[in-house]
Amino acid sequence: MSGFINIGRANQPVSEQHNFSSALLRGLGSGDGLYMPYAIQPLADYAALLEQPFIDRSVQLLKHLIGNDVLSGQLEQIVEQAFDFPVPVKQLDQRTSVLELFHGPSLSFKDFGARFLAGCLQHCGQDRSVTVVTATSGDTGGAVARAFFGKPDTQVVVVYPQNGVTEQQARHFVGLGGNVISLAVDGSFDDCQRMVKQAFAEQDTFRTKLISANSINVARLLAQVCYYFELAAGLPLSVPLTVAIPSGNFGNATAAMIACALGLPLHRVLAVTNENDTVPRFLLNGDWQPHAVVRTITNAIDIAAPNNFRRIRYLQQQHAHLQPVFQAISIDQKTTRKAMRELAAEGYLVDPHTALAWAGVQQTLGDGEQAAVVATADPVKFSDEVEQITGIAVERDSTREQKGVLDRQQPIAPVYQNLSRILSQL
Ligand SMILES: *Cc1c(COP(=O)(O)O)cnc(C)c1O
Repeated sequence: MSGFINIGRANQPVSEQHNFSSALLRGLGSGDGLYMPYAIQPLADYAALLEQPFIDRSVQLLKHLIGNDVLSGQLEQIVEQAFDFPVPVKQLDQRTSVLELFHGPSLSFKDFGARFLAGCLQHCGQDRSVTVVTATSGDTGGAVARAFFGKPDTQVVVVYPQNGVTEQQARHFVGLGGNVISLAVDGSFDDCQRMVKQAFAEQDTFRTKLISANSINVARLLAQVCYYFELAAGLPLSVPLTVAIPSGNFGNATAAMIACALGLPLHRVLAVTNENDTVPRFLLNGDWQPHAVVRTITNAIDIAAPNNFRRIRYLQQQHAHLQPVFQAISIDQKTTRKAMRELAAEGYLVDPHTALAWAGVQQTLGDGEQAAVVATADPVKFSDEVEQITGIAVERDSTREQKGVLDRQQPIAPVYQNLSRILSQL
């Protein structure tokens, strides 16, 4: 077998099999299934790849992962357009660096996946209008709305928990207008995710073709693999490297594990959660017991039933040496706040998610190890929280202002509607 397979609920590959563009268009496999590359072959020479510039290297990585597909020939163009912003690796102290993933248009790492997905879709040659549907815990909505804004024959519907996103996050999609519709839900992100899944179950009843832009879409995950190689290219790999990732739906952590399956020598992939600690508890006692969602200052990871964890388990089954690489830890809000203050005192302002990841890796870093913290959002997206907790106002530099959206003076009014009704009208 080759290509992309559907991993079903019970971690058992279903025989269903697709090429990349078909997996991308389907989003969710039958039976609530998730697509994964069937078998990831390690790269022949990852060290040589690390020598290359980000774009060239990313094209090669994606070609390797995607295999034979109608999109293979378009990847240079897609990647060049999607990843057209910097990916800096900054040194925090002797043993700790930060991978800043928030320099794209919506100021979060979700721009990588959303922009790559948008580029791929444009080259897939759809013969009818498509509607990109996404549930967001805060940042996906903005990244997807901005990636698809103004694209012809494309509608975007963003479903978000009304009280679960910050105003600065909401400004990236609510009230954007054009082809973007936002739908507020009186519930949690998990509720939004359920609504979207339900819509996909009914998709045959809609005229428009539904496309999933959540991290259940395998295209987003593959795009995210690229920046772990950029991280490794910027660090001395003679010292074992642990990557700390603030994790909600565990897409970013899955991408790091795919990078490991490709042969990138990460010592540990440390997924850090907040009080929504289903995965750390599972790793301790083997029981999958999601609790009710707890609302925290790290709202993008207020998720109790992370979708992508199944993919990590699949990778571990396929690559036994990855078993010990993946770890998870939960950090409470008090510790996250303290971390924000400590980092601010060092002159580095971070958003709450980045602070949480930093706190997680500080607690577990062994002698002779180095840490890289994945910075998932610009602190300006959480300016109220950052200012309240650290006492320091987040500076809005002119490049951010030029990005326009954050200072849009637009009323942000939630719209309650029935998702199926909206979709049936498109
Ligand atoms: C989405 C998001 C996360 C969580 O990423 P997952 O891939 O869902 O684990 C972490 N931090 C921020 C700021 C996010 O927007």
